[in-house]
Amino acid sequence: MSLVTRFAPSPTGALHIGSARTALFNWLYARGRGGKFLLRIEDTDKARSTDTNTQAILDGLTWLGLDWDGEPTSQAANANRHAAVANELLAAGAAYKCFSTQEEIEAFREKARAEKTSTLFRSPWRDVPASDHPDAPYVIRIKAPRDGQTTLHDEVQGDVTWQNDQLDDMILLRSDGTPVYMLAVVVDDHDMGVTHVIRGDDHLANAFRQNMIYDAMGWNKPIFAHIPLIFGPDGKKLSKRHGATGAAEYQAMGYPAAGMRNYLARLGWSHGDDEFFTDAQAKEWFDLSGIGKSPARFDFKKLENICGQHIAAADDAALLQEIQNYLAATGAEGLTETQADGMLRGMHCLKERAKIMPELIEKAHFILTERPIAPDEKASKNLDDVSRGILGELTPHLQNASWSRDALEQVVASVAEAHEMKLGKLAGPLRAALAGRAVTPSVFDMMLVLGQDETIARLQDASA
Ligand code: GLU
Repeated sequence: MSLVTRFAPSPTGALHIGSARTALFNWLYARGRGGKFLLRIEDTDKARSTDTNTQAILDGLTWLGLDWDGEPTSQAANANRHAAVANELLAAGAAYKCFSTQEEIEAFREKARAEKTSTLFRSPWRDVPASDHPDAPYVIRIKAPRDGQTTLHDEVQGDVTWQNDQLDDMILLRSDGTPVYMLAVVVDDHDMGVTHVIRGDDHLANAFRQNMIYDAMGWNKPIFAHIPLIFGPDGKKLSKRHGATGAAEYQAMGYPAAGMRNYLARLGWSHGDDEFFTDAQAKEWFDLSGIGKSPARFDFKKLENICGQHIAAADDAALLQEIQNYLAATGAEGLTETQADGMLRGMHCLKERAKIMPELIEKAHFILTERPIAPDEKASKNLDDVSRGILGELTPHLQNASWSRDALEQVVASVAEAHEMKLGKLAGPLRAALAGRAVTPSVFDMMLVLGQDETIARLQDASA
């Protein structure tokens, strides 16, 4: 039996970071086991589902590199099939037509509240033979078990037991013939051959209701894994109060996708003490048994730390591509060919200690900017007359230097020494001249990336 997981977002909002984590777990589980990862858009709530949200979800998954197999399916498009299953259950006697009106149901509930009994609606039509049915609108309800209990095994929660008297004869098909969500999920999961349902534990109670449909249809049940929600650092459900909650916001802030995958994988799942790992390792290691029972806390510092490690470890060309994607996604101007070439040459020194794309781009300022360099306010302070004189003195030495790190270090050190200065004292003016900034990659790295002609020209500009 081949393994099939799925991600089934409702397009009633953009991709939440918690949903992205659910998608990631499903993706890792399938990808690590040669299975399939399917995408189903649960768009049955017509009033709240929008194409814009669907697109945002697809874009978010694409940014995160969570590729799905085949085309995304639309749950709403399967409504006929869902209705057919409701009718099958009706024909088999596992479901029944209920003619109770909204007012009758309300009256039932009010009475139950007054008598302090269960407000779960008990339809009087459950056992009425068809010959006694009126010619009136009806809904189709499932015949829920009335006593005993149901135990479901969950890969995360263990055995979970539910009292059957807490289950109601839920509606499968509304009076207008439209199927309810609970039915649609089960039919779609069955038809798509889903073997593992990995989703938020806010759906755990639904599993017991869905279980009735599996039983009534005699279908194989998937393996369930209900994962705890994500909390903020204060132990409360993650919300805007804590920081960004949308995947798109992290993309816009320039977090690297590999770092996000790594960090999100660690939110609620662990493999020993491993914090930093590659996709290949995550796919190999990911297992439902590594998912914790208690909610994970979102730690923004940890996210940054992991992202920094991924940027440092990234392949230079892939990182350049990610920077370009980032610029395109945020509507910024793209890199020219010269800028892209320069960034590729300089990537080795840019990616040290950068956690997000904007930091990489800021470090690359010396590559992206053009002569004459306009120093910013802080950098200007490092360019007084004395230091400009020294920069001027440096240029003939650089003209004769071989363009290696050792040679450059020697040249700069000897000029500094001639002025009885520490080498570090020259760094400020050099940063200002080469990059127009007070904070830059190392001056020797910049010189090597810029090359001899450009370095000398910039120093001449600054000393003129
Ligand atoms: N559409 C549901 C949601 O977005 C997921 C349902 C499921 O995974 O079974 O929360």
